[in-house]
Amino acid sequence: MDILTRLNYADHEQVIVLQNRASGLRGFLAIHDTTLGPALGGVRLWRYENEAQALDDALRLSRGMTYKSSLAGLPCGGGKTVLLDHDGLHREQALEAFGRIVESLRGRYFTGRDVGIGDADLAVIGRVTRYVAREAAGEPADICESTAIGVWHGMRACLETLGLRKARVAVQGAGGVGMDLARILKREGMELVVADIDESRAAEASRELGARIVPPDEIYSVDCDVFAPCALGGVVSSVTIPKLRARIVCGCANNVLATPEDGDELARRGILYAPDYLVNAGGLIRGAEFYLRKNSDAGPALAQIYERMKQVVAVAREKNVSTGRVADEMAEARLKKEKKYADLYWPE
Ligand code: NAD
Repeated sequence: MDILTRLNYADHEQVIVLQNRASGLRGFLAIHDTTLGPALGGVRLWRYENEAQALDDALRLSRGMTYKSSLAGLPCGGGKTVLLDHDGLHREQALEAFGRIVESLRGRYFTGRDVGIGDADLAVIGRVTRYVAREAAGEPADICESTAIGVWHGMRACLETLGLRKARVAVQGAGGVGMDLARILKREGMELVVADIDESRAAEASRELGARIVPPDEIYSVDCDVFAPCALGGVVSSVTIPKLRARIVCGCANNVLATPEDGDELARRGILYAPDYLVNAGGLIRGAEFYLRKNSDAGPALAQIYERMKQVVAVAREKNVSTGRVADEMAEARLKKEKKYADLYWPE
């Protein structure tokens, strides 16, 4: 695995290989860029087919966090951790071992929840490090909900752009953020179709929200206005785009597009794509406002996602390029401007 070439390609500052034989901890902690401040980004626990796939996920996700922070105007950079789930993993010990490594970075990297990690896991990590966003006395318990609120603001902007008031939304993944988004959509009077590979989660969406459930591989071709990916990345690709019947793609998942060209293809087909890191920045905004700006009311900052989405649509129309390209350019422009003055972020 040509690790250094890969890091150089995506311009990463640092990647730590995590390994602890006693607990079975294996993974990668990737810090993409700290030009704007400490690297923020959750920890994912997933059963990958191989280590290369896990490393690629860590590299892509941490890069996305840098773009997310930059576009949201936050004083932080991008990082992410990917842990390999395997039969020999002692979950609690492995998470503690991971937490100690986070603590050793003294605030250069701040972790939190991502796929496969629940509140109990964050509490374990929090036993050994201060640098984790988790539910505890005085700390925000609504990171997932904030993500979902932000996505709703972005979706509102998309619906307005296309002159839609009520919509049928196909939600892929009824986990932490997927369910919170579905709850908001239900309150706003939207019709819900949900798919999850975990049948119990799909059943919960049906029971609690009256959502129609479809098998996971049918969610792309559902007759709907909005496709809301809220599970894993890479789901909008040359294979799935021809199946889509939605007019909008807007969800909580990270790295929704398999490649940037897939965003161009959506635009060519007249499907409005809400750039993932623009609309799903709510959890990060909530965390950054609380931990870095000492502000407990993230509401106004979350609502700005609506304006940002409208702005991206306007520029995309004016320049006749895809919304994904516009968001990338805006995020890169801020980084470039600040880069002149900043060096790597190392806490005092
Ligand atoms: P989660 O583990 O709580 O939920 C993920 C859900 O997706 C699970 O229910 C899982 O069974 C389901 N799933 C996985 N593969 C699927 C498939 N092919 N089809 C249908 N369902 C599938 O994770 P989460 O915290 O809700 O995160 C979901 C996505 O949102 C991830 O991409 C994550 O990076 C992104 N995200 C999360 C946050 C946050 O605040 N948690 C913030 C920004 C982005």
